[in-house]
Amino acid sequence: MTDDLGHATRPARKPAVGDDRAVLGAVAKLAEDRFAPRADEYDRTAAFPAEDFDDLFSDGLLGAAVPREYGGLGYGPAQRNTLPLWEMTTTLAKADLSLARCWEGHANSLVLIDALATSEQKRRWFTGVVEHGEKWVAWSGEPQTPKPGESARFGTTLTPVQDGWTLRGSKAFATGATGVQWAILLVDPVGPGGARQTREVHGRLLLLACDLSDPTVTVDTSWWDPVGMRATASHVVRFHDTFIPREHLIGGPGGYFDGQWQTAFIPQHAASFLGGALAAYEYGLAYVKRQGKSGDPYVQQRVGSMAVNVETARLWLRHVAGLWDEGSLDEARIAGSRAWHVIGHLAEETVHHVIRACGARSLIRPSPVERILRDLALYKLHDNDDHVLATIGRAVLGEPYDPFFHRL
Ligand SMILES: Cc1cc2nc3c(=O)[nH]c(=O)nc-3n(C[C@H](O)[C@H](O)[C@H](O)COP(=O)(O)OP(=O)(O)OC[C@H]3O[C@@H](n4cnc5c(N)ncnc54)[C@H](O)[C@@H]3O)c2cc1C
Repeated sequence: MTDDLGHATRPARKPAVGDDRAVLGAVAKLAEDRFAPRADEYDRTAAFPAEDFDDLFSDGLLGAAVPREYGGLGYGPAQRNTLPLWEMTTTLAKADLSLARCWEGHANSLVLIDALATSEQKRRWFTGVVEHGEKWVAWSGEPQTPKPGESARFGTTLTPVQDGWTLRGSKAFATGATGVQWAILLVDPVGPGGARQTREVHGRLLLLACDLSDPTVTVDTSWWDPVGMRATASHVVRFHDTFIPREHLIGGPGGYFDGQWQTAFIPQHAASFLGGALAAYEYGLAYVKRQGKSGDPYVQQRVGSMAVNVETARLWLRHVAGLWDEGSLDEARIAGSRAWHVIGHLAEETVHHVIRACGARSLIRPSPVERILRDLALYKLHDNDDHVLATIGRAVLGEPYDPFFHRL
């Protein structure tokens, strides 16, 4: 079924629940046939990849991280079935890294609802995803340190009112702002800073589900004009005394930190980095073969490095997913940061090898390599690599460390 705009209002196909290979094969086909060809236009126009999400919904894949008893595929760390979710993310990233970031936001939100929401909330919100194609995201971003030329500070303030709260202020880096229906807002009730920017927030952080069709929520599209990850549409969103009903509170204060949920999402970024590397690797291989460069010993070395890099990245993801699913949570959490660090470097190095082996024309459109280079450059800044590495070192040394945001 479709609405007046031709968008699907019910999934047209049922996925092969329980047959992960079939599901991942269907995702790979969609990614190759439809998502990769659309990526350039979404990037040029910095537009949310809406049609890609319509296709995921039509094929019954939007609820991948929804538990099976609610009509989903039951993927993800909350269901102890992590690798299929991350492999799906890698496949989407191979087509379009921005699409994968939007997908991560959606899937992570569903994992949080699965882990922390009441059964009534799950029934309502999972039905919205599986039956009606609703898309979710999680927004924390309230950077407190202004950059040159920035006068207004980002940040939100929450005021208790009868039956809920009102929210005033702004969030930046709001991925999917022009395309999703629901956002989980990570809010510090004491004042601006979100989850990432305030160290003392742990016990009091609230997760509030916000219906983005509320007219008091507006999107400022003038801020997001970045070098890469353009189609994530990570705009500034403003809240003008937006009412959040009490029944939209997910879990209790501090539940996000108590469950250490950020650590389940860090390695999924790495799954996306791998997707970018795979796309560049595939393009590079076809390029050097077509140019008859396969006999060049330097090209051979670079191709050898690329192959080892992507294989190493796959092994790391498999290892971390296995730790999550066997319940070795402490090990899984720090291993996720290790995977983020090493896969980020392997992905960047792989793209570098492709460029050196292929030459300048590999960085001219319609080559996807120039977009992957830009996307990875920005996406790698989602977290601070120096701080991630220091966090890993602190864990080894037995020093206290912050596994969520790698603050020193
Ligand atoms: C493509 C993309 C999509 C994103 N999507 C989302 C999203 O959907 N939801 C969401 O919540 N966030 C999202 N983010 C935001 C992300 O979580 C970070 O908040 C953001 O990337 C930080 O931006 P910055 O580096 O300019 O900010 P800053 O906060 O200024 O950080 C700059 C660097 O300084 C360090 N730093 C910050 N404060 C201090 C300090 N006081 N002392 C010392 N060092 C400090 C940081 O660790 C960082 O390395 C996204 C980011 C990107 C790039």
